[in-house]
Amino acid sequence: MQTYPDVKLFIDGEWKNAASGRTLPVTDPATGETIGTIPHASREDLDAALAAADKGFRVWRDTSPFDRSKMMRRAADLLRERKETIAWMMTREQGKPLAQSLVEIAGAADVIDWFAEEARRTYGQVIPSRAPNVTQLAIKSPVGPVAAFTPWNFPINQVVRKLSAAVAAGCSIIVKAPEETPASPAELIRVFADAGIPAGVVNLVYGIPAEISEYLISHPVIRKISFTGSTPVGKQLAALAGLHMKRATMELGGHAPVMVFDDANVDQAVSIMAGSKFRNAGQVCVAPTRFLVQDGVMDRFTDGFVKAAQAVKVGNGLDAGVEMGPLANERRIPALEELINDAVSKGAELKTGGRRIGNTGNFFEPTVLANVPLSARVMNEEPFGPLAIINRFSTLDDAITEANRLPFGLASFAFTSSSATAQALGRRVEAGMLSINHNGLALPEVPFGGIKDSGYGTEGGSEAINAYLDVRYVTQLG
Ligand code: NAD
Repeated sequence: MQTYPDVKLFIDGEWKNAASGRTLPVTDPATGETIGTIPHASREDLDAALAAADKGFRVWRDTSPFDRSKMMRRAADLLRERKETIAWMMTREQGKPLAQSLVEIAGAADVIDWFAEEARRTYGQVIPSRAPNVTQLAIKSPVGPVAAFTPWNFPINQVVRKLSAAVAAGCSIIVKAPEETPASPAELIRVFADAGIPAGVVNLVYGIPAEISEYLISHPVIRKISFTGSTPVGKQLAALAGLHMKRATMELGGHAPVMVFDDANVDQAVSIMAGSKFRNAGQVCVAPTRFLVQDGVMDRFTDGFVKAAQAVKVGNGLDAGVEMGPLANERRIPALEELINDAVSKGAELKTGGRRIGNTGNFFEPTVLANVPLSARVMNEEPFGPLAIINRFSTLDDAITEANRLPFGLASFAFTSSSATAQALGRRVEAGMLSINHNGLALPEVPFGGIKDSGYGTEGGSEAINAYLDVRYVTQLG
């Protein structure tokens, strides 16, 4: 019988309580029970983490990338070995079905392996010189200690991209992991520690997010920020990073359009997109949200999608066969109810769902709204829950205009059998990612990030490690 742990801070290679002794509770979103505690870091703890990261950086930047890579691969293997125990903790604290927790952990191990390889490829350049006796080098070196802030929707996945890229590049890092879902990211940190990463390279804190981010971002030890979360918070943190001339990566909110054309395979579109919509109870920044369906297939798509929504088995993520767990935070229930009521009051049709399920745990019905006017809040704000909007369009231009209407530009999807349509979308859709006829996003080796208000920088692909590297120029005569 597994028990949920009381989580600790990890500073300078040691697991510890907060210096003040203060703690915050952790709640199981499926039952409402308090299941554990986390330490609430104060200035004293943050100063210790900063000193550790400063010291760890000096050791780690001088460690060969080959040795870094080996330790990272060991960490990935440990994560795979411990997957069952960690998946249980993740489901307990976050709510997602156990199978989804296992997939997240397997994916995280892949991310570590991929960045472990990238560590060995941080090539610079030899630049041809104008004079015969001059050597010109562009050298990549780690940017310095990193502060990373991650949310509760993917407790491990959101940390692992930042952590692996930083560690591969030779940076040290202080992770402020999500207070709501603390145990599984702590286990991720533990596999790095157990794999032999020196003390101070990887540090973990919890507390009041705004207090921690304000202190760390403005502190001179920190050279680079990476944040995943909502656009309003991202803008505040990016402004603070700018004030202190810190490099930043911002992975923020989205409102992904899904364009389904008359020539699409509608059944395939329904099945792939219903799976994507209700995965993790829709609490996914790249979740499909605005379904824009061409006139000729509107009825077929809507009927199919509503049936798929009604078939989703909702329950405690630890129970066998459950496909969608509770929302991770109780505060998302009134937020979703308000968005739905507002849309209906403005003329939207509620096709299915729309309500909380029961009164224990944060369960919410898979919900579909159709014919939603642009003035409804849900057409403009990220619902971040199991809520799909289905609206119709007539022409390619109409679809692209609506897809590009919002300031967000993270994920987008399309279903069409026309290569001309697919190419037009590739050129004209304003999104960091476009997936056509399948859901092919978020692999370690492909770019992952947004444009416009969805942020900047990529957390995947061969460019990702550059966010943690400076380019320096060295020239020598003779
Ligand atoms: P929120 O904006 O209060 O918090 C989002 C995340 O940012 C949380 O993890 C929180 O701890 C952190 N945060 C908040 N203020 C911070 C600060 N000043 N410094 C550092 N971190 C801070 O919203 P919420 O209710 O937790 O989540 C709902 C919204 O957040 C969603 O609508 C969605 O837009 C966004 N969100 C996005 C992602 C993503 O993957 N991009 C993940 C989780 C939440």
